[in-house]
Amino acid sequence: LDTTDRADAYLASLSSPMSLRNFIGNNFTEHTEPSHWIDSFNPRTGELLTQIPRSALSDVDHAVDAAVRAFPTWSRTSRQERSEILLRIAEILKEKKEVFAVWESIDQGKTLSRARVEVDRAITNFQYFATYILHEEGAVRYVDGSVSTMTYEHRSPVGVFALISPWNMPLYLLTWKIAPCIAFGCTGVAKPSEVTSMTAFLLAEVFRKAKLPPGVMNIIFGDGPGAGSALVKSARIRGVSFTGGTATGIRIRQDTVADIGKHLSLELGGKNPTLIFDDVNLTEAVPLAAQAAFENSGQICLCGSRIYVHRVVYDAFLAAFVEYVRETYRCGEAIGPVVSREHYAKISSYIKQAKEEGAYFLTGEVPSEVPQKGFWITPTVLTNVRTDSRIMRDEIFGPVVTVSPFDTEEEAIELANDNPNGLASILMTKDLSRMRRVGERIDAGLVWVNCWLVRELGTAFGGMKASGIGREGGSQSRDIFTNLRTLHVR
Ligand code: NAD
Repeated sequence: LDTTDRADAYLASLSSPMSLRNFIGNNFTEHTEPSHWIDSFNPRTGELLTQIPRSALSDVDHAVDAAVRAFPTWSRTSRQERSEILLRIAEILKEKKEVFAVWESIDQGKTLSRARVEVDRAITNFQYFATYILHEEGAVRYVDGSVSTMTYEHRSPVGVFALISPWNMPLYLLTWKIAPCIAFGCTGVAKPSEVTSMTAFLLAEVFRKAKLPPGVMNIIFGDGPGAGSALVKSARIRGVSFTGGTATGIRIRQDTVADIGKHLSLELGGKNPTLIFDDVNLTEAVPLAAQAAFENSGQICLCGSRIYVHRVVYDAFLAAFVEYVRETYRCGEAIGPVVSREHYAKISSYIKQAKEEGAYFLTGEVPSEVPQKGFWITPTVLTNVRTDSRIMRDEIFGPVVTVSPFDTEEEAIELANDNPNGLASILMTKDLSRMRRVGERIDAGLVWVNCWLVRELGTAFGGMKASGIGREGGSQSRDIFTNLRTLHVR
């Protein structure tokens, strides 16, 4: 954390790749199987960047021990004290913002400007929950109008949590779980994605500097089927907050179903529709639809990867959209590489299938079988894709978007909802009654009208259908991390 913000020079000075350490009880520890490492690569060059401990069951147990030991004291620490520590964490993150942004950009492949936005949001995560806990309101009611018996609700921290996050917004999504977990008095073991572990490692140092008591938040590194699964299944873990792919979410639900008291929050994948009606101003709609499709190279669960346009403006939209994407979303500028060799292969296979099925490529092409230098994929705009094609149904999670026409409002709603996922959607129209009429019928936990990616941390965040279980944010996060009891007092 204190080394340098000139990360490239620092990397060049190293004779071997950096190796990370688990953070348990405020110490950086050796994992018990030191020969077991996971290689993590620089997406821009394809070269080895870091080695991540492939934590074993014993490492997971060790981290859970630390969190279990810390819980009795931390859960009784005053809100004021917890709040102060969270605000200190936010302050240190602010001081080190550029260091975090640079490493996030190197590790994940995102542009530096995107990384800065995400570090800002991570800071806000800590500030928001630090102050939320100071301002909670509660009500006392009197039974039968009698003052002799009062009733009220009381909440207490649940216990030790497993916090598991994906690789696309590493720091931002992990802190979205860590901040409420410790704010509401729980302790935890966090496991970032093995593909992008760098900023979680730096965050551990921030916890030490902020004097977060030992064991309150532990960070272990490792793969999903190994460390992740062991963590989720541990009987001493009383809740799981998970963000990642739908298949992993299903696995975690199966792995926890018998432990009925375990709190579970699953934030999963999306295949989100963008609906463009015939009354839009194209100079506003085109950049917004393009940003929603290609921000972070399409690797955001909320990206609008299926665009539907009213037939009256379809041709005009398409022409302007293609020109805008070609000019604005160039590889190396607004577009970074995709995160890994495996992900490059996955996205490429979808693009190849689109070619075989006869899709029209308005931008982009089938990527070379083996990436030459770094994992670069040109933004790809496709038309003439069938609704039942895998390209239209599956979350590709890369810089690939389909554009299709619709004729009526009813058809637009049908097309938007014709997908197993239900995370987010974007509507573009000037008609206020249509905003509500359509917005209230879309199967999506989040509906953005004439905007995208706007967040207010008090509002519920999460998906319908295959996109998840539960919501996070504000009181929804409180519900995940606390147990509720009702008292009647005579
Ligand atoms: P992933 O499901 O492969 O991995 C996510 C995390 O789960 C990683 O830390 C991984 O190690 C761990 N994991 C894997 N198997 C596990 C198991 N059996 N038990 C416990 N942990 C396990 O997802 P990914 O490829 O890292 O991320 C991309 C996915 O995340 C996309 O589907 C994207 O839509 C989704 N996502 C959702 C949101 C949201 O808020 N809904 C936000 C960002 C990303």
